[in-house]
Amino acid sequence: MISEIIKDQIKKSSVIRQMFEEGARLAKQYGKENVFDFSLGNPNVPAPDSVNESVKKILDTEESVKIHGYMNNAGFPEVRKKIADSLNRRFNTGFDETNICMSTGAAGGMNAILKAILNPGDEVIVFAPYFGEYANYVANFGGTLVTVPPALPEFRPDPEIFGEYFTEKTKAVIINNPNNPTGVVYSEEDIKAIVSVIEEKKAQFGTDICLISDEPYRELVYDGTEVPYLTKYYSDTFVCYSYSKSLSLPGERIGYVVIPDEMTDAKDVKAAVSLATRILGFVNAPSLMQLVAAENVDAEVNVSAYDKNRKALYEGLTGLGFECVEPEGAFYLFMKSPIDDDKTFCDMAKAENILLVPGSAFGCPGYVRIAYCVSYETIVRSLPGFEKLSGVFGLVQ
Ligand code: PLP
Repeated sequence: MISEIIKDQIKKSSVIRQMFEEGARLAKQYGKENVFDFSLGNPNVPAPDSVNESVKKILDTEESVKIHGYMNNAGFPEVRKKIADSLNRRFNTGFDETNICMSTGAAGGMNAILKAILNPGDEVIVFAPYFGEYANYVANFGGTLVTVPPALPEFRPDPEIFGEYFTEKTKAVIINNPNNPTGVVYSEEDIKAIVSVIEEKKAQFGTDICLISDEPYRELVYDGTEVPYLTKYYSDTFVCYSYSKSLSLPGERIGYVVIPDEMTDAKDVKAAVSLATRILGFVNAPSLMQLVAAENVDAEVNVSAYDKNRKALYEGLTGLGFECVEPEGAFYLFMKSPIDDDKTFCDMAKAENILLVPGSAFGCPGYVRIAYCVSYETIVRSLPGFEKLSGVFGLVQ
């Protein structure tokens, strides 16, 4: 019954989800407190109180037909205006409501952007390791994902290598900053280097090449790390933002896409993203959550719990002899597997009730991802299991 394409996609379907389901099974068998599930990027920090207060206030004060009705596919204009104003205050940009299209999270935003720009056969460049769902999103519109190999050991983009992956079919480059799965944050210098390669290739091939900045982790940064705002460096930039991680609202499916006026054919692109939102079947982003987002555009994002976990995990694992990339943002730690076969290492960790995701799910075999958006106790209680694994490989002399 089902299509050959989705048959293949099911086969390759997200290892992360499979691990999450495995976690639920193990929790039933051994008790939740004895299973260390680091598989899914599901925030454990509750949404700020102001979010729940906004929900109640909106339900009490706004007209029901407005809250629950259809609207412009791009979203409520006043919500988009509030978001634009907040971006302008924070990043010194010059957006208004016409530059914002509300989306059903980052996943909905990415699909709307790709639907708007891709012709079948177009290529989209990503840097490995990358969020595995990009392959499905690009395939949804007949595009081809082109992977720049990982720049070990620091996972910062190497402009020379990056330049080799462009062809006349390159339509877009996706940057995910702060990065899932490495926790690395590209600096202004990294971004300028990437942009200069794109400019050069655009001139060489005489084509339009967009930058897509997928940034659901923008506010989740540590030690004052800055995340450059990409529309300021390259005018053909889409920003894809989500409240899933910053406000801990992944189930609510709310985010937005930014389309700057400086973008080539900006008016058509805005119309295309808005129409794509409709015809992909989202129609518009969830209405109540749009109103909630508008009330919380400047809500303070609490990163202290993640930061505490980050430090405990990084110090714990490196103390046990594991090689880790020190995370600067998001809530993931990328650790080198002590053996080349990352899947076998994940199986060994599973025997200690520790659930990790193999780096191969992100186009980077030989590593594993640890999502530390869990309780601090989970981190502390998992360390003896990691110690056993370290012992197996004789990592501490
Ligand atoms: N992009 C990246 C890099 C992610 O890590 C995720 C979720 O984990 C998404 C997009 C999808 O986010 P959302 O839940 O907002 O659709």
